[in-house]
Amino acid sequence: MAAEEIIKKMASPTEDDKALITRAYKMAEVAHEGQTRKSGEPYMAHPESIGIMLADMGMGPRTIAAGLLHDSLEDTSVTAEEIQKEFGAEVLFLVEGVTKLGSVRYYGSDRHNESLRKLFVAVSQDIRVLIIKLVDRLHNMQTLEYVPKEKQLRIARETLEIYVPVAHRLGMGRIRKELEDLAFPYVYPEEYKHVIDLTKPLAKRSTEELEKARKSLQKRLAEVGIINFRTHSRVKGLYSLFQKLKRRDWDMDNIHDYLAIRVVVGSVEECYRVLGIVHESWRPMPGRVKDYIAFPKPNGYRSLHTTVITPGRIILELQIRTEEMHREAEFGVASHISYKDHQVGEKASGGASWFSSLIPSLFRPFAWRESKATIEGRQELVPSHKDRIPKWVQEIARSHQGGGEAEAFVDDLKKDFFTNRIFVFTPEGDVVDLPIGASPIDFAYAIHSEVGDRTSGAKVNNKLVGLDTPLKNGDIVEIETNKKQLPNRKWLDIAKTSLAKRRIRAALTLDAEQHNHNHGHAGKKK
Ligand code: MN
Repeated sequence: MAAEEIIKKMASPTEDDKALITRAYKMAEVAHEGQTRKSGEPYMAHPESIGIMLADMGMGPRTIAAGLLHDSLEDTSVTAEEIQKEFGAEVLFLVEGVTKLGSVRYYGSDRHNESLRKLFVAVSQDIRVLIIKLVDRLHNMQTLEYVPKEKQLRIARETLEIYVPVAHRLGMGRIRKELEDLAFPYVYPEEYKHVIDLTKPLAKRSTEELEKARKSLQKRLAEVGIINFRTHSRVKGLYSLFQKLKRRDWDMDNIHDYLAIRVVVGSVEECYRVLGIVHESWRPMPGRVKDYIAFPKPNGYRSLHTTVITPGRIILELQIRTEEMHREAEFGVASHISYKDHQVGEKASGGASWFSSLIPSLFRPFAWRESKATIEGRQELVPSHKDRIPKWVQEIARSHQGGGEAEAFVDDLKKDFFTNRIFVFTPEGDVVDLPIGASPIDFAYAIHSEVGDRTSGAKVNNKLVGLDTPLKNGDIVEIETNKKQLPNRKWLDIAKTSLAKRRIRAALTLDAEQHNHNHGHAGKKK
């Protein structure tokens, strides 16, 4: 039975965990009974793949259960009450989050992709929702060939514009690479062919040389007494190669990381030792050593990189890292939260868990550094834990420096990132980013001050509403204007943005001045 396949991939599941997965699998299977995918497969193949991938990533039982049930609220007769009763509030919260994300629309306008990415993150509320959604998209991309032609391009573009940057920002390298390479031929068919043509002549010899180099390095490491390590080779993803070729005159000779060997060792110290051994064995290219351990990339990526020329005259990139760094590079934020998910138990309330798993390190970077330094005696080489938190999470944290209780901090974080802003759409699909509680008046002024000044009415999701109606995430807002309309004092109370207030005040003053001018005395008539 397929539920067992998922359980097999989980890291040390308890009996309760196993039972939870089995029940979630059964509920999904019954719910999707008789439905098929575009490929003709039974529908259950889709949630099942997602369950397997989530388990592979080390996600906890509730996240996997939610992955199995992610399409059941929308597409089957299963109700929220049933999920809550069978699996608890946390699983329901995750399933509902994924369902809600399904309604985030992409209109194909480049201008507002950053807002759309923010909306995407804001609507998900819990990082696990985002992870399930990314895995959902991955499986949909893997089966994109069965989707009607006219839809393929839109889905593939949306993947590149929205999902890939989100995966990148979360440090989820493996999913990112797969999504990119699956979308590439649909979005840039010509360029895809070009890249294939450029790499074809290299392919066979490269893989042979790569394997030879890997074996010889393996031997060398064993000789010097490094025994606890693994190596594997990787060929650069075609989409990422395409991005680089564009910047390097479409010349493969200018690409130095097409082939790479990854060396995964037991400790930071061994990383630096391996680097020395590599440079001793092969000729390093000057200026290509990058120490992302001492200086992690903004999304938290850590490794040592160097480029060498092998005796077989192949240019090779070496990526040297510990097991922990490897997991982080592959699964990013997911690697920080999976263990937590396993621990939180039934008490966990939806949103906070992934944040709290990051919080202790934000609060005590120095304690961590000290204890680590005592153990290894090389403080300068051990980066503080803080450096490993993705930059964008740190950014949220920065505005909250100065202490306070952990609880309050988490609350503030959530408020700031998830609830202080809303994202609404124009009927053309442009995204407008507003503070919570914003009204159609704020929206109108955000579009253009002329539109703001002449606002006579508003439609939200095709329904006429009052100008004081608070807007919600994802609303489609249409402003009606009238040339004779002028801002009035009431608008000042309704407006939330300083932009709108400023414009309204300016218009009121101008109006008052003109009034005075026309009537020759203080005009309080109105
Ligand atoms: Mn799905």
